[in-house]
Amino acid sequence: MEIYKLTSHELSVKLNEKAFTHTDVVAAIESRIKSIDPKVKAYVRFNGFAGQNELPAGIPVSIKDNICTKGVLTECCSKILQGFNPPYNATVIDKLSGAGFMALPVKTNMDEFAFGSSTENSCFGRTNNPWDTDCVPGGSSGGSAAAVAADEAIMALGSDTGGSIRQPASFCGVVGMKPTYGRVSRYGLIAFASSLDQIGPITKDTRDSAILLNAISGYDPLDSTSVNAEVPDYTKSLTGDIKGIKVGIPKEYFVSGIDPEIKNIIEEAVNKLRAIGAANKEVSLPHTEYAVPVYYIIATAEASSNLARFDGVQYGWRSNGPEGLIDLYKRTREEGFGEEAKRRIILGTFALSHGYYDAYYLRALKVRTLIKNDFDNVFKEFDCIVTPTSPTAAFKAGEKTTDPLKMYLSDIFTISANLAGIPAISIPCGFTKAGLPVGLQILAKPFDEGLLLRIAHAYEQNTPWHKMRPEI
Ligand code: GLN
Repeated sequence: MEIYKLTSHELSVKLNEKAFTHTDVVAAIESRIKSIDPKVKAYVRFNGFAGQNELPAGIPVSIKDNICTKGVLTECCSKILQGFNPPYNATVIDKLSGAGFMALPVKTNMDEFAFGSSTENSCFGRTNNPWDTDCVPGGSSGGSAAAVAADEAIMALGSDTGGSIRQPASFCGVVGMKPTYGRVSRYGLIAFASSLDQIGPITKDTRDSAILLNAISGYDPLDSTSVNAEVPDYTKSLTGDIKGIKVGIPKEYFVSGIDPEIKNIIEEAVNKLRAIGAANKEVSLPHTEYAVPVYYIIATAEASSNLARFDGVQYGWRSNGPEGLIDLYKRTREEGFGEEAKRRIILGTFALSHGYYDAYYLRALKVRTLIKNDFDNVFKEFDCIVTPTSPTAAFKAGEKTTDPLKMYLSDIFTISANLAGIPAISIPCGFTKAGLPVGLQILAKPFDEGLLLRIAHAYEQNTPWHKMRPEI
């Protein structure tokens, strides 16, 4: 048996039966990474870990490079954080060990500061999609998604500000969930856009998603936006029964820009949900067309403010031989940030500047409320909303790097959930003729992660897609 192919729930059974030990699991993952990662490049700075005898026991979880692990380099795949060795753990890392997991002392690749949809904006170079290495794995959590898809990780954590868990999960044929804003602590997640960011699981199946969500959820006094609400046992939601569930299909998601092949696959998935008991009806989310512009104003504004702290004094990269303090700031930021980070700092600073604040930032906040109201209205009558995760399957590397607007449009179906603060999951639902995975997105009311998992699990029980693995 190849240990690295198993899910965490399968591993737990085997570990209980003493079929093998935790050390065997870590060794299996390490050797898998060694043999496969030169092709996939899901991990950064990897030079082995199984030899470290201080590794605690626990099912290994791979961690995105923007989640702080004490003593393990965490650089957001940016030169400006080069050498940053966090003196503390993110809350999710402590929670993992409390729940019998172990955060691997190695990080997965990502777009610099999570700015991107393809993992091409990393200072370490791009990650390759394990289904077709000429294609991107999606982003920004492309390293985590590719690692899970290529069986180089049992499960992984990513972060999602506008789709960065769900879109790469969809491009790589794995399960990715963005929890409700406030469900999971952001303490120790290096901030991109604080009102949108959430950490969430990327896994091989829905049961593992529930298990990992159980481990990381809950109130954290260290994060003032974390919500003090009871966390249910999400594995109890996996009943297999979705009879009578009301599914809304938003008409605005099936118009221009969507690949007809994707549209057909999603329609088949909706038929399948109906066949196993759900009832579906067309609904409207009338402000959908504003989601991308609103997101790129709010996200860049918050990013420009969050990134102000990287000035060569406290963290990472520091320019050599500056002429005074202001020159140190300027040179450090010029040398340390990549293209996309600079673009976003400029856009965000502009949107927040005197004279433009009301016209852009304030207006965007108002439209954000309208987008949220659209969802509230639909959820008065429907239990969930089903859409494609992305308008296309994985695209070729380099295809969108010269056109940022084109790149931004690949998030068109995922960013509304972040603006509204609601939970959403992407699950595998088929393949294109070119053999690339397609993701189905399910969205629900705040704190209804259990329902998302229940629907996703029922679908999974009746379809083969989540079992497919790339030949690599
Ligand atoms: N792709 C989106 C962006 O570039 C979302 C990124 C994310 O969720 N971190 O901002």
